[in-house]
Amino acid sequence: MPIHEFCCNKCSTEFEELVFRESDPVNCPDCGSDRVAKLMSACKFKTGGPIVSGSPTASAPSSGGSSPCSGCSGGNCSTC
Ligand SMILES: [Zn+2]
Repeated sequence: MPIHEFCCNKCSTEFEELVFRESDPVNCPDCGSDRVAKLMSACKFKTGGPIVSGSPTASAPSSGGSSPCSGCSGGNCSTC
């Protein structure tokens, strides 16, 4: 299943989305913004530009479901 993880550049929401084609638009489920960055391993690679408000580490992803990693904000990084 082509499920990719994304991080919204606007509200820093992390979500998973089924992407069948790379050209398909992906929108944030929270704010509807299309300025989302594809996550490689964790939400560390901000390719879209500076986060305007708030810190990505300030809001814990409590609603992310399976999140065994407590050492970073990514939720499922491969280093911890
Ligand atoms: Zn958003």
